Amino acid sequence: MRADIVIRNARVLACTGAPLIESGFVAVRDGRIAAVGPMAEAPATERNVDAEGRLLTPGLIDCHTHLVYAGSRALEFELRLSGASYEEIARAGGGIASTVTATRAASEDELLAATLARARVLLAHGVTTVEIKSGYGLDLASELKCLRAARRVGHELGIDVRTTLLAAHAVPPEFKARADAYVDLIVNEIIPAAAREKLADAVDAFCETIGFTPAQTRRVFDAARTHGLPVKLHAEQFSNQRGATLAAAFNALSADHLEYLDDEGVAAMARAGTVAVLLPGAFYCLRETTLPPIDKLRAARVPIAIATDHNPGTSPTLDAPLMMNMACTLFRLTPAEALEGFTRHAARALGLSMTHGTIEAGKQADLALWPCDSFAALCYPVGAVRPTQVFKRGSVGLAPAH
Ligand SMILES: [Zn+2]
Repeated sequence: MRADIVIRNARVLACTGAPLIESGFVAVRDGRIAAVGPMAEAPATERNVDAEGRLLTPGLIDCHTHLVYAGSRALEFELRLSGASYEEIARAGGGIASTVTATRAASEDELLAATLARARVLLAHGVTTVEIKSGYGLDLASELKCLRAARRVGHELGIDVRTTLLAAHAVPPEFKARADAYVDLIVNEIIPAAAREKLADAVDAFCETIGFTPAQTRRVFDAARTHGLPVKLHAEQFSNQRGATLAAAFNALSADHLEYLDDEGVAAMARAGTVAVLLPGAFYCLRETTLPPIDKLRAARVPIAIATDHNPGTSPTLDAPLMMNMACTLFRLTPAEALEGFTRHAARALGLSMTHGTIEAGKQADLALWPCDSFAALCYPVGAVRPTQVFKRGSVGLAPAH
């Protein structure tokens, strides 16, 4: 077998459900995995990487981020801790409106620079594929500007970026008390333009009492379907809106958050094959106490993915391994479930199952080499877990910047 590069002496966690290969190899050819197996079967080649017994996993896939925005919400964090109400924070210039104002004022290049800096930190933590949502522009030009900046991050860093149009994130100030009119704009102008310019790989919405109603969400999904775009949904984060059931009815790729998911929603997601994306960073930052129904999701065999949900308000983290730790600590996932949540199931949440998320012959050679030896060792430390080497399409040029 001809291979461009062979990674040798690795503890290979393929995330396929197969057991760990204690001393294994992965051969890469033309950016794809050519073969994986025990060292005794490793092919000879000129270019070799000696993993020295380290853990080799698929490159992590962060399937839910709000990476494109301008401004900071640090002041708001301080106000919140001192007991300020949501309204007081908004009056002091905080909250999502402040991020929208800053994002609208920023140029595409400025947004690109800010987003690139964040994406580089994700990469340093082992993330080789990232989903990036718009949702802080909230008008036609600004939403498209955010999606363009997101697309450019992929080209600049050589990682895979999947873009999601989240114009239905919040009602912008100029549409205050006229949410339906804003949904008209989303349905009639923003989704068609994003589809025409091929800037969005999916469409998302925030279905919540403080977001959009199920009826408004349905209109957004109908428009997405008309334009051939798959959907995802922020569902059941603060209350049960039966959003997950609605999402499943549209064969959504994923329903995300899900703290208030009911039995009907679990069953609907299982039937539709919709991935449950759990977001422990937001759960932690908001000091939530209601857990997503993990046991019911497991029993119904709904695939569970984990993501950073990086955003400036409620999950300002870029530390993917820390999210695996929190998924274990806060949600009681096993370390194996947490890692599969950041690889195999995350790939499915982005419609990338055929090419990403596991170490199997034929898949893209996106890999991360970790300075530890087991699932548990990857998830056990609280922070400061970073890969020693990241491979993207087999390229070793992506040594993470520490
Ligand atoms: Zn989100």
